[in-house]
Amino acid sequence: MNLRIGHGYDVHRLVEGRDLWLGGVRIPHTHGALGHSDADVLLHALCDALLGAAARGDIGQHFPDTDARWKNADSKDLLERVVELLRIAGWSVVNVDTTLVLERPKIKPHIPAMRAVIARILHVQEDAVGIKATTNEGMGFVGRGEGVCAHAVALVQRV
Ligand code: MG
Repeated sequence: MNLRIGHGYDVHRLVEGRDLWLGGVRIPHTHGALGHSDADVLLHALCDALLGAAARGDIGQHFPDTDARWKNADSKDLLERVVELLRIAGWSVVNVDTTLVLERPKIKPHIPAMRAVIARILHVQEDAVGIKATTNEGMGFVGRGEGVCAHAVALVQRV
């Protein structure tokens, strides 16, 4: 058994007065995601998918929001730490796929930059990084613009 799959999900509240970080890229918007770190929901879902694939717990366990070390943390740094943890455990990334769910702003123009950032951190080609975005069709907390969600799956292989 040389392959394993993992799944991750994350959600953050959207508020005024915060930067919006998604997929390691700062996106101009009226609202940003609230959180202990930079609250990059896409990278957090990705961390959980990778940790899940290696059955190494979850992001909250590795980077607790009660720990001042992770206050305003750059989620790219958290993802790098997760990739290193997997490397030590004998796993490398094959590919990842993700879906962002938010009403605004439009994500499509930012996807190439996100893919480049994530591919670099995961040590994979950009064609191994899927990023998709959808709205929630105006329904629920996402539809009202109160929050942003991300889903991710990751495939890893035994090195
Ligand atoms: Mg999070």
